[in-house]
Amino acid sequence: MTTSFASLGLAEPILRALTAEKYETPTPIQAQAIPSLLAGKDLLGIAQTGTGKTAAFAIPILQHLSANRAHPVPKSPRALILAPTRELAIQIEEAFRAYGRFLGLRAAVVVGGVGYGEQIKSLHRGVDILVATPGRLMDHMQSGHVRFDRVTHLVLDEADRMLDMGFVRDVRKIVAALPKRRQSMFFSATMPPEVAKLASEMLYQPARVEVTPKVITVDRIRQSVHFVHQSEKRTHLVKLLDDAALARVIVFTRTKHAANRVAETLERAKIPADAIHGNKSQNARQRALDRFRTGRARVLVATDIAARGIDVDGVTHVVNYELPNVPETYVHRIGRTARAGAEGAAISLCDGSERAYLRDIERLTKRTIEVVGGQPAPLKERSQPERSQGPRPQGQQPKPGQPNRHGPAKHWHRRRFDRHAA
Ligand code: AMP
Repeated sequence: MTTSFASLGLAEPILRALTAEKYETPTPIQAQAIPSLLAGKDLLGIAQTGTGKTAAFAIPILQHLSANRAHPVPKSPRALILAPTRELAIQIEEAFRAYGRFLGLRAAVVVGGVGYGEQIKSLHRGVDILVATPGRLMDHMQSGHVRFDRVTHLVLDEADRMLDMGFVRDVRKIVAALPKRRQSMFFSATMPPEVAKLASEMLYQPARVEVTPKVITVDRIRQSVHFVHQSEKRTHLVKLLDDAALARVIVFTRTKHAANRVAETLERAKIPADAIHGNKSQNARQRALDRFRTGRARVLVATDIAARGIDVDGVTHVVNYELPNVPETYVHRIGRTARAGAEGAAISLCDGSERAYLRDIERLTKRTIEVVGGQPAPLKERSQPERSQGPRPQGQQPKPGQPNRHGPAKHWHRRRFDRHAA
């Protein structure tokens, strides 16, 4: 029997909000985590975006805070959620607002890249739930605009990324300033030793929940490939988009340059599209994301790094305008569609130089991707492994200014772009 939200013991206003969100059944991480969290236990969640982890922690926090009603005290949140990026923090706050819409609790988000004024105002007014990126939160903490003596709930989301981005010192300082008696939740997609160490410092006898969405998600995605010549990819993409079934589409490119060119092509074809990548300002990225989420832009063109952590409901199709040279990236990309039970499709445009990438992807996913157009170019064996990303044997480091050249010239160009990608 599948678990229902009602059987998890959630309060009526939360159940009503979940119905409004059209959530019918809890995802595996929700079914496993919510009961332990409602019982007040700490949690170690090994899960990535797309598993429903946000609701898994947000719902129990909302339920606890609404059960222990207290008037918001200026500068003193009761729940603190730390996230590595501005986009993720904004998404988390939106999730709290959605699930808590009938509860009358106050939430705010505090992130870098925007002015301080509004954030200080809402902190002073008092919030129940504060979602923040560590750097900006430290600023507010040091200038006395926020204090942590009333915090009863702490969440550290995407902890592995937090470490990658160099936030670990800030995180440790913030956690050290929190009351010892609190409920803590720690989420990470991966658990290398450093991350495990941070988790063990923060958590007390945690419940452990691990979900691996990869296989499940990929199985539900209709995958197809079109063999096209490099020079025909742009017209081919426009043609694909003639089909209205491609209603909400993320197009992936390997480079920022390609992302811009594709977005320009689509605009010329009168298809509303935006590009997001590392060269765009935070504001431009947020605007693009909002336009996509609200349906004003039908297509979002993104590089892999810019797309990390971005989560939009109802993506009908992922188009791999360029295939990734790391096969795991393909799995991450196509996981943007078919979220939480929905159906989705992934269409790849593969040119002659990408045949080997396609083969690597098929090996990893252990399935043959259906060919729906074009003729495959013969597969050229590569003289060097393309994917070698680890350190090179001694004595093979290229000299500064000397091209890092492996294999055919075409691939060398791609590598150079890759290094500049988002
Ligand atoms: P997350 O992993 O928290 O980023 O959530 C992934 C997506 O799944 C979000 O867009 C949620 O709105 C959606 N979602 C979360 N839980 C459920 C559920 N139980 N039923 C349907 N959709 C859900």
